[in-house]
Amino acid sequence: MDYKEIIRGILSDGNWHCINSIILETGTSARNRISEMNIAAEKESGRRIIDGVPCDMDGHNHRSRVFKYRNVQHEEKEYMMQTFDDLIALDL
Ligand SMILES: [Zn+2]
Repeated sequence: MDYKEIIRGILSDGNWHCINSIILETGTSARNRISEMNIAAEKESGRRIIDGVPCDMDGHNHRSRVFKYRNVQHEEKEYMMQTFDDLIALDL
């Protein structure tokens, strides 16, 4: 398994993961692998597959800028759109 597959596996639960916990599995190249995965996905489909925001997870007090990552939640957005379409269809 290469690092990208490991990262994909970690993020597959849809939850946020601190980069520090990903680095434990893959080493410090995790950040580079994540940006490579996003660049590749953007080239292919025009959208990123991994979200990153500054880590604010419980018990994490990072002194430097540390990010947490999760899979982009496409399903959630599609569900919202569907609900919105349903509302329009009801003609409220
Ligand atoms: Zn953290």
